[in-house]
Amino acid sequence: MPGTNLTREEARTRADLLRVDAYDIELDLGSARDGGTFRSTTVVRFAANTPGADSFIDLVAPSVEEITLNGAPLDPGSFADSRIPLPNLAAENELRVVATCAYTNTGEGLHRFVDPVDGETYLYTQFEVPDARRVFASFEQPDLKATFAFTVTAPEGWVVVSNAPTPEPVGEGATRVWKFEPTGRISTYITALIAGPYVGVFDAYENGEQRVPLGVYCRPSLREFLDAEAIFEVTKQGFDYFQEKFDYAYPFPKYDQLFVPEFNAGAMENAGAVTFRDQYVFRSKVTDAAYESRAATILHELAHMWFGNLVTMEWWNDLWLNESFATFAEAVCQAEAPGSRWPHSWTTFANQMKTWAYRQDQLPSTHPIMAEINDLEDVQVNFDGITYAKGASVLKQLVAYVGQDAFFQGVQAYFKRHAWGNTRLSDLLGALEEASGRDLKAWSKSWLETAGINVLRPSVVLNTDGEIESFAVLQEAPALPTGAKGAAVLRPHRIAIGLYELTDDGSLVRTERIELDVDGPRTEVPELVGRHRPAVVLLNDDDLSYAKIRLDEDSMAVVTEHLGGFTESLPRALCWASAWDMTRDGELATRDYLSLALSGIGRESDIGVVQSVQRQVKLALDAYADPQWREQGLARWAAAAEEHLRAAEPGSDHQLAWARSLAAVARTDGQLGLLAGLLDGSVEVKGLAVDTELRWTLLTRLSATGRADDSAIAAELERDNTAAGQEHAATCRAARPTAEAKAEAWASVVESDKLTNYVQEAVIAGFQQSDQRELLAPYAAKYFAAVKGIWETRSHEISQQIIGGLYPSLQVSAETLAATDAWLTEAEPAPALRRQVVEARAGIERALKAQAVDRAAGAR
Ligand SMILES: [Zn+2]
Repeated sequence: MPGTNLTREEARTRADLLRVDAYDIELDLGSARDGGTFRSTTVVRFAANTPGADSFIDLVAPSVEEITLNGAPLDPGSFADSRIPLPNLAAENELRVVATCAYTNTGEGLHRFVDPVDGETYLYTQFEVPDARRVFASFEQPDLKATFAFTVTAPEGWVVVSNAPTPEPVGEGATRVWKFEPTGRISTYITALIAGPYVGVFDAYENGEQRVPLGVYCRPSLREFLDAEAIFEVTKQGFDYFQEKFDYAYPFPKYDQLFVPEFNAGAMENAGAVTFRDQYVFRSKVTDAAYESRAATILHELAHMWFGNLVTMEWWNDLWLNESFATFAEAVCQAEAPGSRWPHSWTTFANQMKTWAYRQDQLPSTHPIMAEINDLEDVQVNFDGITYAKGASVLKQLVAYVGQDAFFQGVQAYFKRHAWGNTRLSDLLGALEEASGRDLKAWSKSWLETAGINVLRPSVVLNTDGEIESFAVLQEAPALPTGAKGAAVLRPHRIAIGLYELTDDGSLVRTERIELDVDGPRTEVPELVGRHRPAVVLLNDDDLSYAKIRLDEDSMAVVTEHLGGFTESLPRALCWASAWDMTRDGELATRDYLSLALSGIGRESDIGVVQSVQRQVKLALDAYADPQWREQGLARWAAAAEEHLRAAEPGSDHQLAWARSLAAVARTDGQLGLLAGLLDGSVEVKGLAVDTELRWTLLTRLSATGRADDSAIAAELERDNTAAGQEHAATCRAARPTAEAKAEAWASVVESDKLTNYVQEAVIAGFQQSDQRELLAPYAAKYFAAVKGIWETRSHEISQQIIGGLYPSLQVSAETLAATDAWLTEAEPAPALRRQVVEARAGIERALKAQAVDRAAGAR
């Protein structure tokens, strides 16, 4: 609906006209246990600088009962297309809207969840990007800030949390009323309400006179797993670090962190009331990588309290800056905060953020970091690897360029100057220019206004004595996919070059580091001339810049054999990443990538890197291997997984990671028998805890291979009859290798809209099984017949899951490309829908190319 899809032009016009002062919002959630709808009463006071002008307020609701503007009733029938027209405004206005709003089960607006363990109802809001309007009438754009005072009626005995501190509830009988104090001036999308019989754990951050109350909440059924102490520890480290670096005290009256059910994203930075997906409360053993990732998310959201919440983007085109800053901040804080458990965070950053960014930046939909965001649909599909990961990589490069001290000085000035206001990119760049004395216009133009990844290659010429005669860094323009926006450019890169020698015990040790500016197609490195050639020359060592790195032939030979020999984790991660993107690019055959992984992974100590390589090897074998050879590769990988599982230190993270990896690929009777034996307890791997989550992982594979039937799935659900258990059971059922199971899964997602966001995601994960290609083949045509209708009738989150998740990605063939192209021509999809399908299509194109390379390698 056009009214729902607010355009930038409309937002600008409205911001020019209005200044919003205050919202008073009354929500009656007294019958939340029954679901359905709730009453929402909004009184908003605002000024208009052109009396007599018209405007509108946003609302997504089943019905409106009353509209009163400046004391005069307006016709509730004027509410249409998710807007209430506001005619003939006065200089000062008071608007009252009484509406009936709906609970959701999609994680958007006011989400309602019933926990099967206690039968209780749990609510939370999720408003970014434009969903506050599903709960109250609002001017839904980030630059119309205001104060918000919530008054909430909810069942007696509930916990109610919002941006302001929770007041004592009043009243008697079955419900109570919580009357919150007004917030400071904030944007609608970071207001929040969490309500239900949640349980809380409390602490405080104290620093001199300052005292900030801290709370951590979850459902009672997860309470036994909630390690609140660990969460408070990271949170306090973040408070210390950010307050010092930003030179600005935490701006809100308290800081609550709430782990909530069926949450779509990782977390959301609501001012003083951050919501997290509750898989971050670990029910079973997870590796240290999961703790690290949770800590990173905690710090990311905390950084948003300043960058995003205190100072807010004017419009969604600067979403990238908001997300990139928080992503950079999480990594730099983990690397530097005293007491941090993850000082190697830049390795994780290289391993995860960079990989995500490189992948996204090679899709046909790639775009400059500064994207054109014309309306809300544009931004909703733009929470992508460019916005978060490339942006953060480029900020890291900017810090290398201006220096970290100058960077934080600029940031400090920016917070002081713009506190409680809205900004554009130029405001931040201006502050950084003042602090650093550097002109950032050229930098900004080449890094923020262009798309794609440069490739950096070394050019080494040796003389007859084996000394370096010349050394240069060659830069290539990005190979932009057809249809991608923006020109392919060379960029200025601040990089380090690492020189590594191989020691007698097979270790690779850095003997020298040179930092320099690379610009243009060829940059000479005179420092290296006349020296003997080191074993490995690593460009972009320390990962300062954003570029694909290639090794010269001699270095590649050493790395192929000794990748695990690097004594530091970051150069290993860079080499792993380089091998991976060479495989994706068809510069390294999948079978050669597999050999490299098998030779190096045993010495890889960084568990996050191990888990990434495991995923990437599986993905390469499924998508990029020559189909004629694929089974051999999978068999080799499965055998290696079993060996590593049996050889791993008992109880270690590596052991758990290999158990999961084996469960993803097990194929022989022996391997599947091992999974079944671990599950029924007849087989033991010393030190391996076969706990709730691992049991489901094993059962999923057994279901997919026809070794576990409905009754086995039902029995497991009886053991773990929780929301998570129900989701896992849905995955198992959809994974069964029968036409009936596939038809049932398909119908539940495509032909019905009853599934919640999490159950739907679980069904899709089970449906797509890489060794069920033939069984799934008929669904390619069904997909193209259904996808447009899905887009038009489902909510944004739900349709995004289906469009990407059910695309026939496993049917790697020219026919799939042709079917996609035919659909793109005939269906005339909306830009946001087109983008998602085009991205999925690119996966097929890439796989076909890589398969040909792997086939040729097999023939050599
Ligand atoms: Zn964020």
